[in-house]
Amino acid sequence: MEEKNKDIKIYNTLTHKKEKFTPINSEEIKMYSCGPTVYSYAHIGNFRTYIFVDSLRRMLKYNCYNLKHVMNITDVGHLTSDADTGEDKMEKAARKEGKNPYEIADFYTNVFMEDMKKLNIDLPEIITKATDNISQMIEMVKEIVDHGYGYETSKGIYFDVSKLDRYPVLSNNDVEGQEAGARIEVDPEKRNPYDFAIWIKAPENHIMKWNSPWGKAYPGWHIECSTMGRRFLGENFDIHTGGVDHIPVHHENEIAQCKGAFGQNPSNYWMHCEFLLVDNGKMSKSLGNIYTITQLEEQGIEPLAYKLFCFSSHYRNKLNFTFEGAKSSQIALNRLRNGYLTHKNGNNSIEENVIKDYELRFHRAINDDLNIPEAMGVVWEAIRNENKCKKIAELILKFDSVLGLDLENSQKYIEKTTQNIPKEIEKLANKRKEAKNNKNWVEADRIRDEIQDLGYIIKDLPDGKIKIEKK
Ligand code: AMP
Ligand code: ZN
Repeated sequence: MEEKNKDIKIYNTLTHKKEKFTPINSEEIKMYSCGPTVYSYAHIGNFRTYIFVDSLRRMLKYNCYNLKHVMNITDVGHLTSDADTGEDKMEKAARKEGKNPYEIADFYTNVFMEDMKKLNIDLPEIITKATDNISQMIEMVKEIVDHGYGYETSKGIYFDVSKLDRYPVLSNNDVEGQEAGARIEVDPEKRNPYDFAIWIKAPENHIMKWNSPWGKAYPGWHIECSTMGRRFLGENFDIHTGGVDHIPVHHENEIAQCKGAFGQNPSNYWMHCEFLLVDNGKMSKSLGNIYTITQLEEQGIEPLAYKLFCFSSHYRNKLNFTFEGAKSSQIALNRLRNGYLTHKNGNNSIEENVIKDYELRFHRAINDDLNIPEAMGVVWEAIRNENKCKKIAELILKFDSVLGLDLENSQKYIEKTTQNIPKEIEKLANKRKEAKNNKNWVEADRIRDEIQDLGYIIKDLPDGKIKIEKK
């Protein structure tokens, strides 16, 4: 058994500093990650955050730590605005799709899990649905009320932030002096503008609701994570992760609730992944620039190429997505696979200290607040080494235990991509077939030219079938 490495540094949002990482118990690191709200398809921005979490897990394992890592599935209680207004996203989606919220949750959870698999993301040891933790949530709400931090209104149970010694603690937001309603709902029943709902009384038509001391109700999104973290990891664990949007409301309120229920901030380190932008702007439905993993695949971009794309930027920097950039990552991934195979099949020898130097620099980079872009620099240096040798191939696989690009199966991917015809081309071929069936020869020829322009040749075989080849 190798020694656990004591030189890990991570940036802690709580202290606004890069800190030496000291686990509570070096036998097992306890970590909690906020998971998806399963009312719709997760987009590539969401997956940037899960890719970051994957790299973090893998880095800790590379340093010989065991993990107990929990991720939740939010299947109730996440309102359309993080600040307690609007409807439950699950119920809204259910109404729109004419299904019940449990069907919606099952469907999108399955798609999410499939995408996680395609991205070769190492799954947390425990994945738990909010709706499987309701009785524990009710208990925690009771504790908060009993300790004087919660009060009832006609809408539900609210958390009284004025009872805390400090609020907020993660963000630099100064609550006092901010106009009530600038970011939050003005509600005359609330004692303080920043008080938030922890337990919400359900309207008649709300499908997901549970009996509680305060009538039929459902949990607020923040109490869900506080409860699940405590249930599976205890009242003090090592790391809590999420995207930067969680800092000012969700995580701030999680800390507040834990202080109210059991008197302390639950996690020693809080880590947040910066946003993925699209064409330098926000991803939003109205701009029509929210992409899914499947949509990237339709454009010939493999999920693992998107993962490699994410490695081009440090997790604390914004990353701008463009299709051009993602296509370059696809080419880079193919090069990485070919480079690995060339070393695997090479018979040259290499000095041990060259290998050691690569290893040292890679290790230093990942332990320095997960500096994957710098670590990738070392990977490329090793790939480009003129001495094609098995020792480098073995080293690259060792590095890949952190990257999770599945380089071990490079040969399989290369064979697949040489045969792979993008869905976009297949769709055009079907349209051409339809045009031919309708004897619309002009349209059929036009589509053939379009396919050619996209780099493929379509051939009509004597048996009536077609063959598509790369130009
Ligand atoms: P949600 O399903 O909305 O709760 O979000 C799932 C995760 O994705 C959360 O950790 C968010 O912080 C994160 N997230 C949302 N949008 C982006 C984005 N554009 N870039 C990176 N992470 C994001
Ligand atoms: Zn959460």
